[in-house]
Amino acid sequence: MLINTEQIKKTRYVIVGAARSGLSAAEFLAAHGAKVTVSDKKTVDQLNGNVEKMKQLDVDLDLGGHTEKKFLKADCIVLSPGVPKEIAQVVKAREAGIEVISEVELAFRHTDAQVIGITGSNGKTTTTSLTGAIFKEAGYNSLTCGNIGNSFIGELKRHPETEYFVVELSSFQLETIKRFKPSIASILNITPDHLDRYFNFNEYADAKAQIFMNQTGDESAILNHDDIYLKKLAPNLKSKILWFSSHEPVANGCCLKDGKICLMEDGKLVYEFDPSMLIIKGPHNIENFMASCLMARAAGIDVDSIKRAASAFKPIEHRLEFVRKVLGVMYYNDSKATNIDSTIKALESFEKNIILILGGKDKGGDFTTLESYLKTRVKKVILTGEAGDKIREQIGGMVDFVQERKFEYAVNAAIGVALPGDIVLLAPACASFDEFENYEERGRKFKEIIGSMTGGDSLDG
Ligand code: ADP
Repeated sequence: MLINTEQIKKTRYVIVGAARSGLSAAEFLAAHGAKVTVSDKKTVDQLNGNVEKMKQLDVDLDLGGHTEKKFLKADCIVLSPGVPKEIAQVVKAREAGIEVISEVELAFRHTDAQVIGITGSNGKTTTTSLTGAIFKEAGYNSLTCGNIGNSFIGELKRHPETEYFVVELSSFQLETIKRFKPSIASILNITPDHLDRYFNFNEYADAKAQIFMNQTGDESAILNHDDIYLKKLAPNLKSKILWFSSHEPVANGCCLKDGKICLMEDGKLVYEFDPSMLIIKGPHNIENFMASCLMARAAGIDVDSIKRAASAFKPIEHRLEFVRKVLGVMYYNDSKATNIDSTIKALESFEKNIILILGGKDKGGDFTTLESYLKTRVKKVILTGEAGDKIREQIGGMVDFVQERKFEYAVNAAIGVALPGDIVLLAPACASFDEFENYEERGRKFKEIIGSMTGGDSLDG
């Protein structure tokens, strides 16, 4: 462990954002004697129980807005992942030469554990969990954290003895890294997402690419060979590169050949995995497995541990989760499919007879890219939510559809039209915030409606 308490004590920190990761950062820094201000635009009443916990700490609270003077007096500003780096007080502080970092950067500076960093537009949580499961199976003293749930800084405070942190990273967390250098890092894919928050695709992609910024030839980068952006990025990296591909052979990495997942090292076949060992469904999950397998190999893990962990790994809730079979209709909850690429992956997982529930809050994507899938695999689209009108304009002529404003009515419409052999798939390609608190609430609502159906049904797929 590498916590530099002397340096922390001398530093004045402003933590921006009083939610979970802000609280963890405050707890960590206060425990090491730093002078800490926690600032949030929400008032005490709007914030939940976190404020009570912060009051127990020796920290200054700046709530209901951000006080510029406090920001300008800081030596270091720690931004929580949900806070945009463009807020006025942060911009002013940066202009005044004050360092602005993320909670992930803060944690990295105070540990000598190995860090495995995982980012991408889709598949981060699944791949982080699977990688964590493999590290555990191999007997490594490891933890998963970051965007997946518990913050990196919080886990470091609670478990400083950890030797491997497997960290899920969003593009927002990567925007403010400085020295962060994962010994193994992966970008799974880069497809348009969050274009409501980013100026353009390149800005979004560049934020993700920062994950490799400080790597040298001693660290490993795991990249998707089928992703055009990542192929272009590779020559600029200093890292040791391992590729995964569903379409082309690779000399160092994993690729699909004759229906088998081949692990290749220095041009030689080391092992062949049979994809049928995986419980998680769909071609995208084969990619996620390949990435996890390579991260494990880069950390020196044996093939048997990889195989044992991967074949026991179950889908995470709301990610192409099988819900129930009722009267011959299979119901799948992929509420986490909040962008178009993840919806495409869900559609690729079933050949035909799909009744697709699409819509919610628009994130600026182009729904016409769904065309070939809608025409070949989808029987009917049930449009819903705020984005319903936009999607109707873009895909109206391509597929049979109905539109329901409310989510609940949309699910009932899907149930109403489904026949034995059909698949009702909630993979909405949109965020949930028009009607729900988050995608989890939307997924639970879907499962509740499906769960309450009566009829001769079976619980397995
Ligand atoms: P993230 O944490 O990046 O959002 P998740 O593992 O939570 O990723 O999956 C989010 C959505 O993306 C789910 O709908 C899931 O089925 C889909 N998905 C998972 N892996 C991939 C992948 N490699 N490529 C595209 N979509 C994927």
